[in-house]
Amino acid sequence: MTLLLDASEAARGIMASHITIPAKPGAFTIVYPKWIPGEHGPTGPLNDLTQLRISANGRDLAWRRDKIDLYAFHVDVPAGADSITVDFTVLLNAPGDTMATRNLAIVNWNRDLLYQSDINSHQYFVKPSIILPHGWSYGTALPGPRKSGDRMDFDTVALNMFVDSPLDMGRYYKHVLLWQNGNAAQWLDAFADKPQDLEFPAKEVAAYKRMTPQALALYGSRHWNEYHALLTLSDAIGFQGIEHHQSSDNRAPDDFMTNPKQQVAGGDLITHEFSHSWNGKYRRPDDLTTLNFQIPQQTDLLWVYEGMNQYLGDVLKFRTGIGDPKTYPEYLAAVYAELDNEPGRMTTPIIDTTTGAPYFYVARGQYSSLRRTAGDFYSEGHLIWLAADLTIREQTGSRKSLDDFEHLFTQPALTGPITKTYTRAEVEQTLNEVAPYDWHGFFERYVYEVSPHPPYDDIERAGWRLVYNAKPNDFIDADNAEEHSLDYWYSLGVHLTSEGVVHDVRKGSPAWNAGLADGAKIVAVNDQQFDPDALEFAVKSAQHSRSPIALLASVNGWYGTYALNYHGGLRYPHLVRISGRPDTLSKIVAPH
Ligand SMILES: [Zn+2]
Repeated sequence: MTLLLDASEAARGIMASHITIPAKPGAFTIVYPKWIPGEHGPTGPLNDLTQLRISANGRDLAWRRDKIDLYAFHVDVPAGADSITVDFTVLLNAPGDTMATRNLAIVNWNRDLLYQSDINSHQYFVKPSIILPHGWSYGTALPGPRKSGDRMDFDTVALNMFVDSPLDMGRYYKHVLLWQNGNAAQWLDAFADKPQDLEFPAKEVAAYKRMTPQALALYGSRHWNEYHALLTLSDAIGFQGIEHHQSSDNRAPDDFMTNPKQQVAGGDLITHEFSHSWNGKYRRPDDLTTLNFQIPQQTDLLWVYEGMNQYLGDVLKFRTGIGDPKTYPEYLAAVYAELDNEPGRMTTPIIDTTTGAPYFYVARGQYSSLRRTAGDFYSEGHLIWLAADLTIREQTGSRKSLDDFEHLFTQPALTGPITKTYTRAEVEQTLNEVAPYDWHGFFERYVYEVSPHPPYDDIERAGWRLVYNAKPNDFIDADNAEEHSLDYWYSLGVHLTSEGVVHDVRKGSPAWNAGLADGAKIVAVNDQQFDPDALEFAVKSAQHSRSPIALLASVNGWYGTYALNYHGGLRYPHLVRISGRPDTLSKIVAPH
């Protein structure tokens, strides 16, 4: 098939797809991609496909949508035709899903594609082309680019590789060569809404240049030829990361590269997606690997695909210096405390959050700490794989680590972008080759069964202990600054916005016991009009008083008073050193 995407009007939020698909006379079905790799769910944005026209031999054909599978369209191909032509308009922007601004756009080809149903996307080929907005640059891992005016033509590639090779483009751009060795290279292709956001500090660029050397040391292998870290810097588009085999689709706020605070809160964005080239793209769960984009993906092993990758992406963030390695224990304290204080974990094991991932990713609404979230198998994955790393180190007298597992798991040392599937049994067997241990029982305990606490003993054996005190946690602070929120989760038991709107109440906490509801807006604290300082003052003062903290809050126009019996002061998590024990955490995040 061929696909020409006219993206010349991307800045107004539309593109036009022009596709030719080989076909035989008779009944013929084309489909719109539904299960999107990297999004782990049936998220193909069907409502963005508009103005569909199908023709053959220059004459329009009547088409009908399937009554059951709304992603499928049926036509009758006339005698004498050997292909059909498909044209449609792609809408790029919807609330919470912005793909184009005045100055840049993200091309996820699955949005621009209709293809023959029931084909094997690994053995079905497409020749892609795009017409760029005049004067814009682009970045993509698609091979063989040839330019002719504003039009780019690329080599013919397998359909799965095509969908796996997004393209970013924009008026203001910066292409940074991060690493090169012979024909192999890693690029950072950045596109910004505002040109000043491309003035990257030299220190930042130097840290990002350490990504490939550190990843090669971690994995001992490479399965890409030319890797493009695509990056949009746009408040309108927001924060998102989607992994691909030889590229990643990274989306961050305007000042992501220029404001050091952004790197504290989100500096694992690109390292996480880059690490997926090995873990998720080269090695992929067997039941997550499908022949085409209509077949449901089974997501149960995301505790390896995403969970292990959350750990490794974070480790790379610190080993490269994108994050300060000295801050790792503080980060770990924030991750651990959040999961250890999540009531939903008392009923719902991690395996349910991965198996139900397509639903958890889009779940919205109140009391997410009772439901649990898709984020849980990422952050708890970090803790579980840290525990696995520490267990390997302990079992082998510090001679081996999870790095040795990665070397075995991602061998041979060099291939192109192919996929090797795995099962849980293979993961456990490979771990056993590195360090004999009851790995099956380990994952049963922390992944497959209800686990009242995330793994903790290993953190103590690594020389650190979790404490709570009044000193703010740097990472929680950075998140709060980014999200304009306040964190009283470990004291009163509420998350709230800096405007006082409650976003979740921890079951069993003083706020819960006082009857406070998710969604309430706190308007007064101890009779003072609410503001962040008034609330902080009230929590501090209550330490020296027996009176409850009195909140006045409104829900849907009704006011209520709430008496919070809490006298423990401000409370935030930290890790502190256990004297006399070696500090293994520092070793883990030191550059390799
Ligand atoms: Zn990921």
